[in-house]
Amino acid sequence: MENVVIIGTGCAGLTAAIYTGRAGLAPLVLEGRQPGGQLTTTTAVENFPGFPEGIDGPDLIQRMRQQAGKFGARFQFEAVETFEREGDRNRLLVGGSWIETRALIIASGASPRYLGLEGERALVGHGLTSCATCDGAFYRDVPVCVVGGGDSACEEALFLTRFASKVFLIHRRDALRASRIMAERALAHPKIEPVWDSVITRYLTDDAGEVSGVEVRNQKTGETSTLELKCVFVAIGHDPNTAPFRGQLEMDANGYLIQKEGTATNLPGVFAAGDVADPVYRQAITAAGQGCAAAIEAECWLASRE
Ligand code: NAP
Repeated sequence: MENVVIIGTGCAGLTAAIYTGRAGLAPLVLEGRQPGGQLTTTTAVENFPGFPEGIDGPDLIQRMRQQAGKFGARFQFEAVETFEREGDRNRLLVGGSWIETRALIIASGASPRYLGLEGERALVGHGLTSCATCDGAFYRDVPVCVVGGGDSACEEALFLTRFASKVFLIHRRDALRASRIMAERALAHPKIEPVWDSVITRYLTDDAGEVSGVEVRNQKTGETSTLELKCVFVAIGHDPNTAPFRGQLEMDANGYLIQKEGTATNLPGVFAAGDVADPVYRQAITAAGQGCAAAIEAECWLASRE
């Protein structure tokens, strides 16, 4: 029986690991399918306090991980398949074996959304991706596109200008949702060409099954056109990773975990932190703050039961 299991190694999970580690609880941290979370797919983080020059996302995560390890956190490279509740015990099916824990901190984050077009899944890795940092360098001196109008889309588009000959920024409206500084930077870049009021209706492929272009429909005029390009970078937001908890933990209509009081969920001893429970702020620093709160609340909850 574990004292506390933490699901996720993004900002929320690792901060919870640092705090529960320092409290002497020897947390077991489950890495999940994307170890390090969303910061591992980002470049410069300019808004995390304490880094006036900015810091690379993977570097920031690596430092947090080291810090958690220093205080006795144990890491396991597995994702949770099933969650069960037996009395006040939490049972997790992980890599074919069951782990039992008194307290559970869910910081499993959110995963990138795709467009839901026909044949889409099969194209991931063949000219369709959600990670410019991971795949951008493969597309040198060729046109690419980014879909979305938020900070992620602008950040990805700017990053891609290092490699691509041109970056179409395809957005379904005529104004970006991104923060002003990011939007201005993106729109001022000579390689970035916005494609306003438009949605992709079809991916076009070559004989090798790689993306060779997209069919785009203008929402206002109804006109359809074709853009020739080699890769589509989708940056239209994320869905919370809450599938194992469906039917047992309260969620909102979009699947985000509901925090009842502080970070506590509807089940005693189960806490939620970071993007898995936050459809609003979704920042590295707010996730870290919630990881801290969840750790303190888990510690108090365990103490109250001794
Ligand atoms: P977001 O802010 O939710 O933006 C998603 C974008 O995708 C919106 O422009 C949305 O269009 C569009 N979209 C959603 N569904 C779509 C669909 N089915 N088809 C076409 N377009 C679709 O998501 P995000 O950009 O990933 O940002 C998430 C959070 O992280 C935000 O709080 C953001 O500020 C933060 N972030 C910060 C930084 C930074 O500060 N460096 C970098 C990245 C992210 P509409 O605008 O029409 O809704």
